[in-house]
Amino acid sequence: MEMKTEGVRFIKRPVVDMPNWKKLFVESNIPEKLAPLKELSKNLWWSWNTEARDLFAKIDEEIWDECAHNPIVLLEQVSYQRFQELESDEVFMSEMHAVDKQLQDYLTARKNTLGPKIAYFSMEYGLHDSLKIFSGGLGILAGDYLKEASDSKANLVAVGLLYRYGYFKQTISLQGDQMANYEAQQFSKIPVQPAMDADGNWIQVEVEYPGRPLYARLWEAKVGAVSLYLLDADFEANNENDRFVTHHLYGGDNENRLKQEMLLGLGGIRALKKLGHVNADIFHCNEGHAAMIGLERIANLVAEEQLTYAEAKEVVRASTLFTTHTPVPAGHDSFHQDLFKMYMNKYPAKVSLSWDEFVMLGKAAPYEDHFNMSFLAANLSQGINGVSMLHGDVSKHILKPLYEGYLSEELNIGYVTNGVHYSTWTAKEWKEIHLKYFGKDFINNQLDVDLWDKIYKVPDQEIWNLKQNLRAKLIDYVKQRFTDTWVKRNENPKLIGEVKNALNPNALTIGFARRFATYKRAHLLFRNLDRLSKIVNDPERPVQFIFAGKAHPADKAGQDLIRYIVEISKRPEFVGKILFVQNYDMNLAKQLLQGVDIWLNTPTRPLEASGTSGEKGVMNGTLHFSVLDGWWVEGYREGAGWALPLERSYDVQDFQDELDAETIYNLFENEIVPTFYDRNEHDIPEEWVGFIKNTQAQVAPEFTTCRMIRDYQDRFYKPQAERSQRLHADNFKLAKEITSWKGNLAAIWDDIELKELEIADGITNAIRIGEEYPAKVVLDLKGLAPADVGVEIVITENEGNDEPTLVECKEFDLEGTDGKLATYKLNLHLMHPGAYSYAIRMFPKNEQLPHRQDCKYLRWL
Ligand SMILES: *Cc1c(COP(=O)(O)O)cnc(C)c1O
Repeated sequence: MEMKTEGVRFIKRPVVDMPNWKKLFVESNIPEKLAPLKELSKNLWWSWNTEARDLFAKIDEEIWDECAHNPIVLLEQVSYQRFQELESDEVFMSEMHAVDKQLQDYLTARKNTLGPKIAYFSMEYGLHDSLKIFSGGLGILAGDYLKEASDSKANLVAVGLLYRYGYFKQTISLQGDQMANYEAQQFSKIPVQPAMDADGNWIQVEVEYPGRPLYARLWEAKVGAVSLYLLDADFEANNENDRFVTHHLYGGDNENRLKQEMLLGLGGIRALKKLGHVNADIFHCNEGHAAMIGLERIANLVAEEQLTYAEAKEVVRASTLFTTHTPVPAGHDSFHQDLFKMYMNKYPAKVSLSWDEFVMLGKAAPYEDHFNMSFLAANLSQGINGVSMLHGDVSKHILKPLYEGYLSEELNIGYVTNGVHYSTWTAKEWKEIHLKYFGKDFINNQLDVDLWDKIYKVPDQEIWNLKQNLRAKLIDYVKQRFTDTWVKRNENPKLIGEVKNALNPNALTIGFARRFATYKRAHLLFRNLDRLSKIVNDPERPVQFIFAGKAHPADKAGQDLIRYIVEISKRPEFVGKILFVQNYDMNLAKQLLQGVDIWLNTPTRPLEASGTSGEKGVMNGTLHFSVLDGWWVEGYREGAGWALPLERSYDVQDFQDELDAETIYNLFENEIVPTFYDRNEHDIPEEWVGFIKNTQAQVAPEFTTCRMIRDYQDRFYKPQAERSQRLHADNFKLAKEITSWKGNLAAIWDDIELKELEIADGITNAIRIGEEYPAKVVLDLKGLAPADVGVEIVITENEGNDEPTLVECKEFDLEGTDGKLATYKLNLHLMHPGAYSYAIRMFPKNEQLPHRQDCKYLRWL
């Protein structure tokens, strides 16, 4: 080519246009014959089915581990050549078809579901590590519950948020500092698919923010036969700020949390509406985060059924259940009323309320300046429950401000103790033993305690071998996991070697892993380091502790604690004896709970609402050693674990910590270590194996999600659904009647006059056991029906300055009426000696109310 010789004087600046990116989805190139793998990879059912997991592992063990057991990524990364090999591998093909058939049969058997239709709402779901939409216990519980709902054929649909980054991945620096890394999820690599409407359009919902709408797209995750719908705001339709709404779980500021909760509650109901699920019988609000579901449903009923706000509220309450999960204040979200008003000021007009009337839904008293989501949830729910027997009682104290005049123990707040999903958390090796001794159909008969009792028939040798084997697997796993991460952070190779040498697959191994919230008291074990050193360094009877857990990025105290444990673990006397493994996730939890001998839990009583990790342990023959708090109050049996007493001995926390630490050391020195190392002639610790058997026979069966969902059905879903149906019938006839009755009562209540109150002399002085003392009350009811008002005497005992406790509550009989006057009488006789207090009160009576606090009027006379 000929070139001009003069130089180029000027080159024009180019105008390059921006590429017009088009979406391109490249599906992995899986041969037709292997197509079932694709469907298997997209239903999280594989995560709790042992055969399905084994099948994926067989495709390529190395990639399977590298991609942290994410089958979608696995199928993308496996070479075409490997697929071709598999296609002609008859064994593999027949296994694949068997697993595929299992899934198809499983789904077919669940075409017909049992019980009321439930819409379940939660801020987080822990289903598998590859779907990063959970942080800890609350999420894992919700995830386990969906799996169980599927297994138990419950008619349940779930709603949550799809986070771009989810919760953080934890790494620990050389100095022991926790570093939080957020990794973006690519939604094509996780088991979610766009949820489409009947016309094949991707479903979107809108929520109003000040001056703009927020758009959210809907995704579906398949959890066996249950659908989990997830809202995602991270796409072009929203501005940068709003896209952030679904970036982080428990991240951002309080305003962002409010935006998230609006999306979950208001948006969640809108999504169900578009999906045709808004007719559910029960709306289950898992923690207060989703409480706005009630607001949206009320607005819908007002707009579509021409109900008044009060009538709609009656209907919504009947069909809503609120589960509260923690007594710790940080677990109860509240928003300053100015912030709340900025976002919600348009709402009251929709239901013809004033702002002041509306905002009381989230307050216990008008002067409060925060809107509390737990209060909102409680006010819009007929059923309320805590997550263990003890936590049910504790929750009564927390929610008491909403029910003036009642003693906390009178409140209609129940409980369902949390459980864990057997198939997810039980080691394959244990599942095999259970299958062999409990029978083929055990999985479907988990509630049958007699089956679990057969564990006593299993030879000690078989159980001990299994336990040794699982411990060895854990030690291997831990060595691998910490070597990788320690090399990455440039830890001294000498130290790595020392730790690896010291870790002992035959030593008594204790696990402690959970969120590093201060109330969990991970520091307790370290109060006396000399004593701890003696315990772990006994050459004849070595002991090792493995710690793991994340602290919330804003929780400095929690992070300090991690640093302290990391520092201790590097002291010469503790190298390989105390180990902190980073990034506690479901897989690590599984390995730990299946492999350790003891699971240690030392919360400050009564702040552990339930706790579930110990429950995962007991089904794996891991003995539980815990403060009697949460589920362990119900679970502990002598000879099946160890317990620190329920009662606090000291008000000063530091003294209590000292006492608890002392008790822990004593138990290790005098009971636990000797029992573990007391071997018979076959080198089996007979008594220890006896403990394992007791644990499986007497504790484990009570703490499955199978038992848990049955309790929810019996105590809440079924009775509430039955009443809710009655409220709906005949164009909401009963709901309107009850509302009108309540309205009438409210209008007159304050005018009711006490005309006479007579009590026999004895009562005011000293009364004798067994004798009768007449009492009489005359009220001017100002036109209310006498049967609508009850009168009762409340007798309490008051020790010290605690809240009085209820001894007895006796209702007066309606004796007669005279115009507007009604006379109530009672013959009181007490049967137990003691010093009591008494008072008389009147209350609204109506058989159609589900419980007393459903109509909060109450007056002491
Ligand atoms: C089970 C589990 C939890 C909850 O444990 P608690 O004992 O309730 O604190 C937290 N994180 C992970 C990864 C779990 O598997």
